[in-house]
Amino acid sequence: MTGLAERLKARIRALGPMTLAEYMAECHFDPVEGYYATRDPLGAAGDFTTAPEISQMFGELVGLSLAQSWLDQGRPAPFQLAELGPGRGTLMTDIWRAAGVVPGFRESARVHLVEASPHLRAIQAHRLSDLPVTWHASAGELPKLPLWLVANEFFDALPIRQFQRDGTAWRERVVGLHEGDLALGLTDPMPRPDLAHRRDDTPEGGIVEPRPAALPIMAVIEDRIAERGGAALIIDYGDWRSRGDTFQALRAHAPTDSFAEPGAADLTAHVDFEALAHAAPRLRASRLAPQGVWLDRLGINQRAARLAESLTGGDLVSHLAATRRLTHPAEMGNLFKVLALVAEGAPMLPGLEPNE
Ligand code: SAH
Repeated sequence: MTGLAERLKARIRALGPMTLAEYMAECHFDPVEGYYATRDPLGAAGDFTTAPEISQMFGELVGLSLAQSWLDQGRPAPFQLAELGPGRGTLMTDIWRAAGVVPGFRESARVHLVEASPHLRAIQAHRLSDLPVTWHASAGELPKLPLWLVANEFFDALPIRQFQRDGTAWRERVVGLHEGDLALGLTDPMPRPDLAHRRDDTPEGGIVEPRPAALPIMAVIEDRIAERGGAALIIDYGDWRSRGDTFQALRAHAPTDSFAEPGAADLTAHVDFEALAHAAPRLRASRLAPQGVWLDRLGINQRAARLAESLTGGDLVSHLAATRRLTHPAEMGNLFKVLALVAEGAPMLPGLEPNE
């Protein structure tokens, strides 16, 4: 079989340019060369690092938040503790350990993981071998049980499309060929009634980035929580309405060309949290909180001081650096945001305010 780049070029020659969403999906999940399908991209030796990989405190505070919400809603049993895109399984490990202090939580929980990568599933199975875990390829397979869900750096990896404003119409940015290489091009202007709400805040020539694959996932979350109770905690980089071109490729912790070597880099774009909240209209959304503010309200500094008591030398230095990295506005504290969703009438999660 030829390489992914050659296969994508052949497809474009035969069928014409593809949307950025199609390109991202092929680059991430091609069974032979797909970025997520075939490797573990996380950690210092990989291409990017995520909050749970930086410090156990992140998962502990997520676990205690979810457990508090479960208590607030009358401890339904059984319930599903679900995660979208669990990576190496580190976040779920820390959630499980921390939430274990709440009587009845573990006994009532069934862990459901949504993971499309066979490679990462194997790592998760090894890591979470003591937990009652079921895997799913898509969120639609989550059972009809009360749902407490977390998704950290999941939605940013879902494919986006890009549209460039052209008067009252939009041109789509698509992946085609330029002198034999993969390159971005523009379609003719098209009317896009679905983007009407973005016309006023997008300058002429400006870019908007809808993420179609997020919508059915939000519909499933809405259904399980509205019908049976629970809460969703979504953490990612982005804002309440994305602005401009945020599409990028990351390799070895640095931006790289998105089209040079398909499958070799993580392709990602900022998350538009407004679009996620609006895709679940029957749920109540929290106000969007910066990660640093949220972790501070949950007591990360007290937890950090406690852990610091047993550390010395280099371990202490890395622990303090990790705390800063998660919370400081110049690091992840401001770029990353937190959105919670609960059923109408249910209490909001700790550290977050309802978005009235
Ligand atoms: N949440 C983890 C990993 C983030 S990386 C952490 O914080 O460390 C993104 C994760 O989402 C990976 O596990 C990847 O395989 C998974 N993923 C990406 N796109 C997906 C999709 N369409 N369906 C299911 N899982 C997906």
